[in-house]
Amino acid sequence: MTRTGRHVLISGASIAGPALAYWLHRAGYAVTVVEKAGALRGGGYPVDIRGTAIEVVRRMGILPGLRDAHIDSRRLTFLDADGGKVASLTPSAVSGGVEGQDLEIRRGDLAASLYAAVRDDVEFLFGDAIDVLDDHENGVDVTFRSGRRRTYDLVVGADGMHSRTRESLFGPEERFHRYLGYCFAIFTLPNTFGLSREVMMWNSPGKAAALYAVGDDDELHGFLNFHRPGPALDVPRNPGAQRDLVASAFAGAGWEGVAAMVDAMRDADDLFFDTAGQIRMPAWSRGRVALVGDAAYAPSFLTGQGSSLALAGAYMLANSLAAYGDHRAAFAAYERDLRPFVAMNQALVDNGAATLFPTTERALEQRDRGLRDLLTLPAAPPRPAHSALTLPEFALPR
Ligand SMILES: Cc1cc2nc3c(=O)[nH]c(=O)nc-3n(C[C@H](O)[C@H](O)[C@H](O)COP(=O)(O)OP(=O)(O)OC[C@H]3O[C@@H](n4cnc5c(N)ncnc54)[C@H](O)[C@@H]3O)c2cc1C
Repeated sequence: MTRTGRHVLISGASIAGPALAYWLHRAGYAVTVVEKAGALRGGGYPVDIRGTAIEVVRRMGILPGLRDAHIDSRRLTFLDADGGKVASLTPSAVSGGVEGQDLEIRRGDLAASLYAAVRDDVEFLFGDAIDVLDDHENGVDVTFRSGRRRTYDLVVGADGMHSRTRESLFGPEERFHRYLGYCFAIFTLPNTFGLSREVMMWNSPGKAAALYAVGDDDELHGFLNFHRPGPALDVPRNPGAQRDLVASAFAGAGWEGVAAMVDAMRDADDLFFDTAGQIRMPAWSRGRVALVGDAAYAPSFLTGQGSSLALAGAYMLANSLAAYGDHRAAFAAYERDLRPFVAMNQALVDNGAATLFPTTERALEQRDRGLRDLLTLPAAPPRPAHSALTLPEFALPR
């Protein structure tokens, strides 16, 4: 049953958007999702679903399908600057995931699974976007880029790190972006390295080149990450200049695999370039508009927790709306209950999560010693607190 007078517009159909749509529908809301891409974006780099987020997808009934899509990387091999092997480990020993429980999925497969769980119950508008938001006492008037105009009771921005919803509500991204000192490029390349269900990572101080073989297919995901002092605003926006910047950062690398990756990066038609950063906001809502997932609290890829936070955040926001009905009380409860968990995840970058990408010779030696030590540690570390938020039972709508 849809509750009259409860129509929510969600901007963004990746992870947080469809998950929120699912739970809001369960709570009796009518939901529309607008996505600027013409269709669901498929494929993509692997993301992790851990701890609390596993419980969210279990409650959605999509866990068995996601287990089938689990990449199940068998090995993570670290190479030194000359391409020599430093250590070869199970990925969970390094990533903070729990083997046998947590999942690693292509981002596009996760998005497709979330979408399939909700597409029959929710309206999706692909190839459109919010142009103007006018939030007033009785609702939010929305003008779309297509010219369509509608009024909603609530609007939620699930439109990622560079959220337009956040910008139109709270102002420019620079106010909330914490640059973490790295730029990165991801792209696909032919699997000429003979890798299968594994990750290979080369490092020199301030530079990392990783190859992800997500299956037995002919394609690899390439990842080139390098240290660059701020500010992030100086980073070029033009794709040609971005390719040049990456190529110059990796020029003269001591392993021929890096040169092959740089060549492939130059030819790639799916290059994605960005800076590593976090979104830190003093408030996640204003009036009748709220933010969820990376738009509100991106923790950065250095933590491996972005998708899990997006799933947990979607659940907690929908649950608060179901429990309180009134959006002011609900948005306040969403922040009160989730903020400590978000803070714990964002703090990972200060507590050593970035040590996979050391910027000095000394730090790299230290990291390599740590990796070798891991070889002798007992397996199966306990579930860390940053992926162990206890979810409330989903509230019955008021
Ligand atoms: C290289 C890389 C590696 C990563 N590795 C991991 C990992 O190992 N583990 C992990 O958990 N996370 C990882 N992440 C992070 C993870 O991808 C994000 O945290 C997660 O996708 C956030 O989901 P989201 O739905 O909030 O935002 P996004 O996935 O960014 O989705 C935003 C959606 O909004 C749409 N959109 C944007 N603007 C508009 C607009 N104006 N109107 C309408 N729609 C719009 C976009 O097209 C997109 O579909 C990684 C990210 C990167 C870049």
